[in-house]
Amino acid sequence: MKEDLYEAMGRLGLRRTVSRMLILGILAEKDTHLSVLRLHQMVTASHPMVNLSTVYRNVAAMTEHGVLHSVEHTGQALFGLAATPHHHLICERCGRLDEVPADELSQAAALLLTAHGFEIEPAGQLLRGRCRRCRHAANGAR
Ligand SMILES: [Zn+2]
Ligand SMILES: [Zn+2]
Repeated sequence: MKEDLYEAMGRLGLRRTVSRMLILGILAEKDTHLSVLRLHQMVTASHPMVNLSTVYRNVAAMTEHGVLHSVEHTGQALFGLAATPHHHLICERCGRLDEVPADELSQAAALLLTAHGFEIEPAGQLLRGRCRRCRHAANGAR
């Protein structure tokens, strides 16, 4: 995973700076989407000298080049790795974000195209609802 990212950066003409590799490493390891603030906190845990604006700039540059992408959640942008096409399941209750492989939605998307002549973006969709755990919690309370 990290190797692929490393290559992708080179291919896209992005310099592999320490802070960029730190950001990518964190996102790959956590396998989720994080805000710039959160990323900054995690970067500074090992590299205290990296300031917020550096993280902000690098995230913006990598998003622009398609290495990262962002989803909007509760008013803030969360950034994740864009390498594998995926959609997002966001739990409105606990804020958990899960990724689903893009293929799993493509069948439903094909139906939309047939029925409405509408084509959805192949990746990056945001589906809001409740995660398994929150649904179970709600059922248990009944
Ligand atoms: Zn994503
Ligand atoms: Zn939840």
